[in-house]
Amino acid sequence: MSTFVAVDIGGTHIRVAAYGQDNITPITHKRTRSHAKEPGTFDRLVKAIESAWPTDRTVKAIGMASPGPLDPKSGVVLATPNIPEWHDFPLTEKLSQHFGVPAHLDNDANLAALGEWKFGAGRGHHDLLYLTISTGIGGGVIVRDRLLHGYHGLAAELGHVTVLADGPVCSCGYEGHLEALASGPAIVRYIREQLEAGQKSELSSVEDLNARTVAEAAGRGDALARSAFARAGKYLGIGVASFLHTFDPSIVIFGGGVSQSGPLLFEPFETSLRTHVFNPRYLENLVITTAALGDDAGLLGALALAQMASE
Ligand SMILES: [Zn+2]
Repeated sequence: MSTFVAVDIGGTHIRVAAYGQDNITPITHKRTRSHAKEPGTFDRLVKAIESAWPTDRTVKAIGMASPGPLDPKSGVVLATPNIPEWHDFPLTEKLSQHFGVPAHLDNDANLAALGEWKFGAGRGHHDLLYLTISTGIGGGVIVRDRLLHGYHGLAAELGHVTVLADGPVCSCGYEGHLEALASGPAIVRYIREQLEAGQKSELSSVEDLNARTVAEAAGRGDALARSAFARAGKYLGIGVASFLHTFDPSIVIFGGGVSQSGPLLFEPFETSLRTHVFNPRYLENLVITTAALGDDAGLLGALALAQMASE
């Protein structure tokens, strides 16, 4: 029986799990703090993997999800703001040497897409679009059962498409990207700007402004909070309409905390989507749904990567 080790490397935690063939219940599981801003992240990663390594089975391969940008072909992490010491870091080569098995790497959003496709909300679909909306917006695209990587391995940064020329500045430094208009921080920034401009809202007395507190205020009928989600939904619809025109998927899956906002976000999103799709055929039988795997999407995507690379 084949055993695989899956790793999800995040800014705050490293998660490792071992899986048998055809079973997504882990044999072992280890979660540890990554302290990624401090030196020694690779050694902590090795220790975490060692502690979850099954002793009574032969491991066939390691699959890993990491924040990007990275090169999935060479397994090199190019640079990641969450882990400053990893610059042109040959992650799979080092792990493969240490553990004596092949190691495979892809970015966390691509692997969340792959995980949902193989084990979650996207099972049975061949053309899939995945968007995670939280502090940023990440994306992954599956075309005919294959993850889209592009020539440089840098696809698919769906959060960094321009949806508003000369719009607000994105975390990447460019203007008007989807992430700058529909992520959690984008919603909060809009609220702050409107409050400063003199808009009345119960949020003026809320210190801890985030997508969740704004959603709660919207639920109580606060007009500004509702308009912030309406605006995010509108730009999300503009972005996804372009993705439908480009990739023509049969399913769009939304992950990430902001996607838990329900109709507040998705009613304006769907209205905007219908307005901006230039041919209604794109919407025929299109499934729009939320992710099924929750926090395990990256880990299960890493499992899928290791399995598929070993076939
Ligand atoms: Zn951007």
